[in-house]
Amino acid sequence: MSLSTRAQAVSLSVTLALDARAKALVDAGRDVINMSVGEPDFPAPASVQDAACRKVRSGDVRYTPAAGSRALRKAIADHVGRVRNVEYAPEQVCVCHSTKHALSGAVLALVDPGDEVLLLLPAWVSYVEIVRIAGGVPVDVPSRADCGPDFAAIERAITPRTKCVLLNSPSNPTGYVWTSDEVRRLAELCERRGLWLLSDEIYQRLVYEGEPFASPVSVSPGVRARTVVLDGASKSYAMTGYRIGFAAGPREVISGIERLHSHLVGAPNAVSQEAYLAALTGAEPPEVASMAAQFDARRRVLVDALRELGLNTPWPRGAFYAFPDVRAYLDERGTRGFCEDLLEQHNLALVPGTAFGVDTHVRLSYALSLDKIRGAMARLAAFLEKHPRREQALARAAAKL
Ligand code: GLU
Repeated sequence: MSLSTRAQAVSLSVTLALDARAKALVDAGRDVINMSVGEPDFPAPASVQDAACRKVRSGDVRYTPAAGSRALRKAIADHVGRVRNVEYAPEQVCVCHSTKHALSGAVLALVDPGDEVLLLLPAWVSYVEIVRIAGGVPVDVPSRADCGPDFAAIERAITPRTKCVLLNSPSNPTGYVWTSDEVRRLAELCERRGLWLLSDEIYQRLVYEGEPFASPVSVSPGVRARTVVLDGASKSYAMTGYRIGFAAGPREVISGIERLHSHLVGAPNAVSQEAYLAALTGAEPPEVASMAAQFDARRRVLVDALRELGLNTPWPRGAFYAFPDVRAYLDERGTRGFCEDLLEQHNLALVPGTAFGVDTHVRLSYALSLDKIRGAMARLAAFLEKHPRREQALARAAAKL
C-alpha cells in the first residue's frame, strides 16, 4: 500500500479522535466525563426536528444544486444581513456540509501551493491541516497573554507570499472575543496589504458579556471584497450531527467553492438544508437563547473552579471553552501527557494545547451539564492535589499574585 504524501501527512483530528476514545471507554464501562469535544448536549430546536422529519416523510429528498437550495441560500443571505448588517445576495452564499467544510472550500478556492496563511495561535485544530491539504503553508502567529491579537506579531509574519489571515472570534479554544476596534484594525491591515480574510464565525451567537460580536464585514466596508464569512448550525442550534453550514462572500470566491464542491461532495444534505431553513426562517427558535443562557451559567462555574484550583485561566467571553494554563504541571510529555494521565487516572477527557499549536494550556468544553462540570472539577482537583509538581505549581501561582 502506498498512500499519497497528502494522506500520510495528515493526522486524525485530535478533538474527534479524543471524543471517539472517550466514548469507547464509556461503552467499555468506564465512567468518563468527556470535556474534549465541543458539542452541545442539547437536542436541536423542536421546529428544526419537525422540519427534518417532514422533509424525510415527503419522500422528496433529492439532490439540490451544489451551492444549496435557492430558498436556503436566500434565508442565509437574509440572516447574514440581519446579524452582520450587510447586504448579501443569495449568489454570494454557498451552503456547505458544515463550517469546517465551508472553510476547506474557501481555502481550496483561494490558496495555491506555497501560499502562506496566517494562523493566530492558539488556533483550532483543523486550520493547520486544511491549509496543508490545499498545499498552503500555515504560518503560526503568537497572541497576547490574554489570548487577544498581537498586531506587531501579525505584521511581522506577513511576507510577499502571504495570501490569507484566518480569524476566529469568538475563539475556539480560548473563548476570546475580539473587540470591534481589533476587528477593524485587522480588516484595515488586510486591505492595506492585499490579504484575504477568512472569518470563522461559528460561535458568533455565543457571546455572553461585554462588547457584542463584530464581524469584519460589519465594521469595515472596504474589506468585504476580500472576506469570506464562515458559519453554520452546529453550535448555536445544537445541530452538530446535521452537518450544515455556509460560506458567504464575493461572488467569484463563492462560485469557486461551488465548483469545487460540485465534484467533491455533489450537494449538501437535503434534509439538513430543510432543517436549517426552518432554524433561520422567522423568529429565532426559543431554545437558542435558552441554550446560550445555560452555557453562560456553566462558563462561570467552570472558570471560577479552575481559578480556585490555582490555574491561570483567561476569562472567556464567548464560545464554550475554557483554556487554563497548566505549564507548572507539565513534564517532558507536555500537555499530551497531562491529558493522558488525567484520563487514565481520573476518567476526565480534555484536549491538549498541542492540538491548537501551544503546549502550555489544555482545553475544556463546557457544553455539558453543570453536574458533570462539577464532577469534572472534583476529578481535576484530586489529580492536581496528588500531582508530583503540586507544591512547585502552588508556589509559582502564589508568586504571581
Ligand atoms: N469544533 C468542535 C471542537 O473543536 C468539534 C470537533 C471538531 O470538529 O473539531 O471540539
